[in-house]
Amino acid sequence: MPSSAPELRRVTVLSGGVGGARFVQGLLYGLRSGVVPGGSADTEVTVVTNTADDWWVHGLKVCPDLDTVMYTLGDGIDVERGWGRREETWSARTELEAYGVEPTWFGLGDRDIATHLVRTQMLEAGFTLSQVTEALCRRWLTPAHGTRVRLLPMSDDRVETHVAIADPDTPSGRRVVHFQEYWVRLRASVPAEAVVVVGQDAATPAPGVLEAIAETDLVVLPPSNPVVSVGTILGVPGVRDAVRATRAPVVGVSPIVGGSHVHGMAAQMLTSIGVEVSAAGVGRHYGARSSGGVLDGWLVDERDAAQLPRLEEAGVRARAVPLMMSDHDATAAMAAAAVSLAWPA
Ligand code: GDP
Ligand code: CA
Repeated sequence: MPSSAPELRRVTVLSGGVGGARFVQGLLYGLRSGVVPGGSADTEVTVVTNTADDWWVHGLKVCPDLDTVMYTLGDGIDVERGWGRREETWSARTELEAYGVEPTWFGLGDRDIATHLVRTQMLEAGFTLSQVTEALCRRWLTPAHGTRVRLLPMSDDRVETHVAIADPDTPSGRRVVHFQEYWVRLRASVPAEAVVVVGQDAATPAPGVLEAIAETDLVVLPPSNPVVSVGTILGVPGVRDAVRATRAPVVGVSPIVGGSHVHGMAAQMLTSIGVEVSAAGVGRHYGARSSGGVLDGWLVDERDAAQLPRLEEAGVRARAVPLMMSDHDATAAMAAAAVSLAWPA
């Protein structure tokens, strides 16, 4: 796809965990290797990351999406699993189980626990999550990792996704569980009747988030979960308005390919908010900036090419390209296509 992209000095990505992290990794690779039009190793990438999956467990503050992005970009991730540390061991988990400590369904690896210990101690000493994240990233996002990249939590305030599920054993017939219980313990196997993002209305964006959206050359919505990753970032008061108002083009990448999520459980979350599980359904859910939404452009997979007219009808410029992040080259090509869609020749 030919492109007339200007020099890309700054790019801002609104990311969840595994899907967002893999996309950013490919973007950085593409910037370094010159595949991304207008980009170079000097392009500054800011990753605004979802924190609504965060929770306290065993007395530790755990931030799954921040850690997935940090470990992925810092080459410390378990690539097979997609989350957690490489060469992980699980002694602490086994010991906790031996004590009968709940929850046994949420395993923390031994190496990973070090991250949560540092974070928890810093938070308890009065540092903000942004400051803690910056401190942790000093280890992981060094110049040795190539392209300049900065990781920001979406907010320093406590924001938590909770999910309402049916439970005949309660008087109301319903029960509300933390997102982690829904995702990890229940594996999203029961329908989500409602998604409630606790604390969101009172939250403020973390320092630098609104600036990163306003003062950038391009905003990208990676193929992250549209409800519980990108949706919760956009839901922090001020963020959606900043995306709508930025002078930079805003381009998104569909997480739904051929009518289904590629990995994970995005379909369940889309269904819970009444959005059609398709590339066009998600693109139309985000909507065109020209009519109250957040998108200028939307990439769908080749096998969803028949849906392009429905997106163009909704005012969203759309193209069909391969969207499987099978390796760095494939993902870099997706990032390049996102840039080309922002500035078509
Ligand atoms: P999480 O926070 O770890 O769930 O990760 P994200 O929200 O960032 O991304 C999860 C989403 O990534 C999944 O729901 C998938 O739809 C999407 N995804 C994963 N791998 C691929 C891929 O290779 N291509 C595309 N287009 N989407 C993917
Ligand atoms: Ca997540």
